[in-house]
Amino acid sequence: MPNGVILSGVEGRVGVLALQGDVDEHLAALQRCAATAIPVKTPADLARVDALILPGGESTTVMKLLERCGLGRPIVERTRAGMPLWGTCMGMIVAAHDVLGLEQPTLDLIDITVRRNAFGRQNDSAKVDLAIPALGGVPFPAIFIRAPWIERHGPAVELLAQREGHGVMAREGNVLATSFHPELGTDARVHRYFMEMVSQQGKASTAA
Ligand code: GLN
Repeated sequence: MPNGVILSGVEGRVGVLALQGDVDEHLAALQRCAATAIPVKTPADLARVDALILPGGESTTVMKLLERCGLGRPIVERTRAGMPLWGTCMGMIVAAHDVLGLEQPTLDLIDITVRRNAFGRQNDSAKVDLAIPALGGVPFPAIFIRAPWIERHGPAVELLAQREGHGVMAREGNVLATSFHPELGTDARVHRYFMEMVSQQGKASTAA
């Protein structure tokens, strides 16, 4: 068995940034989809993966840790070169162009402005049946925990889902962002959607 998963004939190893947050849940969700899932803690780990997930957690902490581990720059360089990247909740905040009221620099990988904790605090966490046409007609059971929403998006960004009139899932080329946590539920459609992005990228780089 090779070390990567076969995705429509293309191998891909999916890394999960493992500095803080719900890393194990993403690794388990990827394994349930038969993907090769690797925790990423160092630039050397990053060099071994074909795609990266930034999990849920605490964005201000993770932005500091990214700097300290020397991972911020290589993540930006790899993503700008085409590596598929998906941020869930905290990951959406870290990947955003900017964050309302936050001075700390983000990775600026998707042209969105986000508002943190936009749907309320911990007690306002909710499971919402979300219409996501890109995933088919069945609503997605989306878990929101101190979730951000998208306040502004650039022209190249496609909004894939909205809650209460605010963007909560968006894609710009090889970068995907969700305000909610597919890794905490059992519906694997968003993980599969991301793996399809990985597969497409694999085919594009093989063809190049
Ligand atoms: N509110 C958190 C933050 O701003 C994100 C919460 C989450 O990832 N569930 O970093």
